[in-house]
Amino acid sequence: MHKILLKIFRTGNLTEPLPVPAPPLEKPCSLARGSLSIRHVDAGSCNACELELHALNQSIYSPETLGIRFVASPRHADALLVTGPVTLAMKEALKATAGATPNPRAIIAMGDCAINGGVFRGSYAVAGGVAEVIAVDGQIPGCPPAPGQILAFLERLALPEPHP
Ligand code: SF4
Repeated sequence: MHKILLKIFRTGNLTEPLPVPAPPLEKPCSLARGSLSIRHVDAGSCNACELELHALNQSIYSPETLGIRFVASPRHADALLVTGPVTLAMKEALKATAGATPNPRAIIAMGDCAINGGVFRGSYAVAGGVAEVIAVDGQIPGCPPAPGQILAFLERLALPEPHP
């Protein structure tokens, strides 16, 4: 016991600092109805962003209690949440998915790769960030962003607009 306590004392705190809050939406979005249906699109991710999305859907964050849910079809979605750099193989599929999402809608680039290509920028197989292919309304930075950070961003989109 004494050895363990000594080791804890010597090692100190190894936790990471809190993530930087996501910047506001680049343009106003009038989705707000108190709920948000999201279609996730993996445009070429390394899958770590997806792991954080899985973590987001655990009971500890419980986005459905805030009216935020993931749907299977873009036709049922208010927003597209795109992860990963856009690979050339996914470029047309991403455009088609955005085209199938009814207006008003928000396109959200989640993770540094979706924002600007991240570590895959310049690859022969990558078109770039999501904004290179379709107009982006909001960004969630990080590699990968933490579930709390993702939830904080989505929560703002799901909030109902104040009535005059
Ligand atoms: S932002 Fe990081 S975690 Fe997300 S797809 Fe890119 S490399 Fe992977």
